[in-house]
Amino acid sequence: GAVIGILGGGQLGRMLSVAASRLGLRCHVYDPGANPPAGHVAETVTTAPWDDEAALRAFADSVDVITYEFENIPTATLDLLESLKPVRPGRRALAVSQDRLTEKDFLTGLGLKTAPYRDVPDRAALDAALAEIGTPAILKTRRLGYDGKGQARIMEPAQAGAALDEMGGAEAILEGFVDFTHEVSVIAARGVTGEVACYDPGENVHRDGILRTTTLPARLAPGQHMDAVLLAGKILNALDYVGVMGVELFVTPRGLIVNEIAPRVHNSGHWTQAGCTVDQFEQHIRAVAGWPLGNGQRYADVVMENLIGDDVDRVPELARAADVQIHLYGKGAARPGRKMGHVNRIVRG
Ligand code: ATP
Ligand code: MG
Ligand code: MG
Repeated sequence: GAVIGILGGGQLGRMLSVAASRLGLRCHVYDPGANPPAGHVAETVTTAPWDDEAALRAFADSVDVITYEFENIPTATLDLLESLKPVRPGRRALAVSQDRLTEKDFLTGLGLKTAPYRDVPDRAALDAALAEIGTPAILKTRRLGYDGKGQARIMEPAQAGAALDEMGGAEAILEGFVDFTHEVSVIAARGVTGEVACYDPGENVHRDGILRTTTLPARLAPGQHMDAVLLAGKILNALDYVGVMGVELFVTPRGLIVNEIAPRVHNSGHWTQAGCTVDQFEQHIRAVAGWPLGNGQRYADVVMENLIGDDVDRVPELARAADVQIHLYGKGAARPGRKMGHVNRIVRG
């Protein structure tokens, strides 16, 4: 059977490895950190830094196709790997999603709506952007942000300097604050032959910048549901994408606004493990391994809840509850803000 190379060994890499193993495929995980969660599941683990050329070459040699569980893989690493084995999803999806400015330019170029945004290379540009966009606004680092890190809210222009300081010298963009009623996401997949499959949109609630729950079905009018699915398909096709993508959307009275895209399996797609015949992890493995896409139709109403930090103490109680599917990531200490696991609760089967 084929061997899937996975860059990154966190919980997403772990669940991808489980899905691959169910399909009789083996996984080789590459992660710079010691004892990554995916390492307990994958057949082979390489612990080496992203710039270790010998380790990267040996990794590429041992696999048939390379995928990833996070989008911030260094460019030089990708250049080397791409010259050795197919990397799916491909380079364009990574380039677009690694940089919030490139991402917004790409999305607006497709005719999709985003928050108003400006590149802010310096203080003068920030002041000019604030004058145009107004407040409230959010300053975000262009690169490497996740779980709301690298963001500063600006409620009034006088806070501009402090917000810029919070970026720590990193390049940033200013986004106008979107007055949304709620947030949803579409998990979409595209196969090597170009077929697209979308899961039903889920409704997401964040706390302290971290995803807390995803509820299915999302509150969406039929037209909005269709719009969400179609715009996701448009993004995947434009990127000639292979694999699963998460598309985060704001729901507003003026329509759907794209927040950001993630070129990988997505936390807000974990509900598919309990709601669908083929979940997002198997779907992604199918796509990158060149299999046909599976059936992503939803058979149940599901609430996914992340177990963050101390939430994991509730596991004994959750284990006694009916209709609760438990996923633990095998991580060590439960630090605040650390994703330790999640549960999928079947609300209506
Ligand atoms: P993730 O962990 O999803 O990658 P992230 O760090 O990339 O998160 P964003 O998705 O950009 O951050 O923002 C996190 C949350 O902050 C959003 O889900 C939303 O609730 C809020 N937010 C971000 N941008 C805006 C905006 N322009 N207007 C209103 N709310 C916003
Ligand atoms: Mg993000
Ligand atoms: Mg986000």
